[in-house]
Amino acid sequence: MSLQKKKTPMKEQKAEKRIRNFDEVPFGYTKEEALVEADRCLQCKHKPCVEGCPVGVPIPQFIQALKNGNPEEANQIIKSKNNLPAICGRVCPQEEQCEAKCVMGIKNEAVAIGRLERYVADYNLEKETAESSKSELEKLKIAELTDKKVAVIGSGPASLAAAADLAKSGLKVTIFEALHKTGGVLRYGIPEFRLPKTIVEQEVESIKKLGVEIKLNVVVGKSITIEELFEQNYKSIFIGVGAGLPRFLNIPGENLNGVYSANEFLTRVNLMKAFKYPEYKTPVAVGNKVAIVGAGNVAMDAARTAKRLGAEDVYVVYRRSEEQMPARSEEIHHAQEEGIEFKLLNNPIAIKGEKGKVKAMECQKMELGEKDNSGRRRPLPIKNSNWDLELDTVIIAIGQNPNPLLTANTKDLETKSWGGIKVDSGQKTSREGVYAGGDIVTGGATVIQAMGAGKKAAQNIKNYLLEKSKK
Ligand code: FAD
Ligand code: SF4
Ligand code: SF4
Repeated sequence: MSLQKKKTPMKEQKAEKRIRNFDEVPFGYTKEEALVEADRCLQCKHKPCVEGCPVGVPIPQFIQALKNGNPEEANQIIKSKNNLPAICGRVCPQEEQCEAKCVMGIKNEAVAIGRLERYVADYNLEKETAESSKSELEKLKIAELTDKKVAVIGSGPASLAAAADLAKSGLKVTIFEALHKTGGVLRYGIPEFRLPKTIVEQEVESIKKLGVEIKLNVVVGKSITIEELFEQNYKSIFIGVGAGLPRFLNIPGENLNGVYSANEFLTRVNLMKAFKYPEYKTPVAVGNKVAIVGAGNVAMDAARTAKRLGAEDVYVVYRRSEEQMPARSEEIHHAQEEGIEFKLLNNPIAIKGEKGKVKAMECQKMELGEKDNSGRRRPLPIKNSNWDLELDTVIIAIGQNPNPLLTANTKDLETKSWGGIKVDSGQKTSREGVYAGGDIVTGGATVIQAMGAGKKAAQNIKNYLLEKSKK
């Protein structure tokens, strides 16, 4: 039988239909499609794909189990390394990670590892029982650690991954989350049509079944301090508070009505359940003409959300070119299909208003010059090329910084110039017993990188507590 060169396609909602709802865009593989795709895996002995995965999912093994007709075993294999597979299967930038290393990708298209992971995770999500989690937990418990208290701050992917691994070894883990819902960016950043919130809830539930306690509405650094957590007998602390403070352009007009940070815009839509209002009775009014500044995943999410809220013309304004756009290629492709217009090589200069409200954005055309420190060709302004884009709403999606609340109120916690927490190669901070990981350490990165850091921190917290128990 000849080898199928391309990935098995995944069926999805048609663009003209999906821009009128917030339902998930791709439907996921059927059993038949998953088996056809699993057959494309060559079961390479040296497993290069695994090297590309920040948490080391045993990729050929889980695909083999799937091929053998055993999706439950495939799930266990994935979960030995990744506690949030239904999420990662959907949002990991696979083309830069596991799939970038796949041997099949040299001459053909890489094996669709993310889609297979999603299939296995979705198949098993509803089947997982408290009993299976309990028996798994028993096997992994470490006697010296059992029932020692560890605090995990934040409930994004870094914290969830850390909490799961810590709980598996018998530690008593409590998550402290500032918001009234768990999940961090998975909940309030990434939109429903890309990551349904029921999936986030189910994944969080499976972590709770490991014995993790979750305290919501606790802002660490304000409601309670790190010092007070140590006084309450928490023996070690993991900080995974992300980077939720939006950056702005610092151009005239940014305080006009109708200018949002992508963070505020997406949080409002996700937490205020705008997607429950298909007829656009939404708490976020966008008008007909919307521009998003930036071209990462956050920008694509904001653009596609604005379209679904009823905007007719949605533009992505980016000062570099298409090849330099940092978003996942699937998100760019979906945005293009949905009619989002890309105004590339354009830099916003000012936002213009009328009666305090956005009216237009002045843009300057750019061209690409020599490579800069990032290895990308530097965008240079073209003289006398300014033009106005008429708009009702501007959404700024050019990155985020950490909120300084926790770091400013914690003694002896060293930070970097941009506010991120300094850690060593084992995620250890300058404070004894305190570890950190995820966006608060790296700045805006990816779900799986945050999880990888959370897992590494969990391992080093266990080593630290084991070492201490010997003294
Ligand atoms: P977060 O997910 O930010 O979670 C931090 C948590 O800590 C939050 O729940 C917050 O409320 C809580 N917190 C903050 N301060 C405190 C405090 N003082 N006390 C208690 N709790 C606190 N990555 C991908 O891999 N693929 C994608 O497709 C993708 N799309 C994205 C789309 C958007 C819109 C955004 C914003 C990001 C996207 N990312 C994507 C990036 C990814 O989501 C982040 O890198 C990842 O969530 C970081 O995880 P984290 O655990 O470090 O922080
Ligand atoms: Fe690939 Fe992400 Fe799954 Fe790792 S967790 S195998 S990077 S999809
Ligand atoms: Fe399969 Fe690709 Fe990994 Fe080889 S590199 S084992 S083909 S997924």
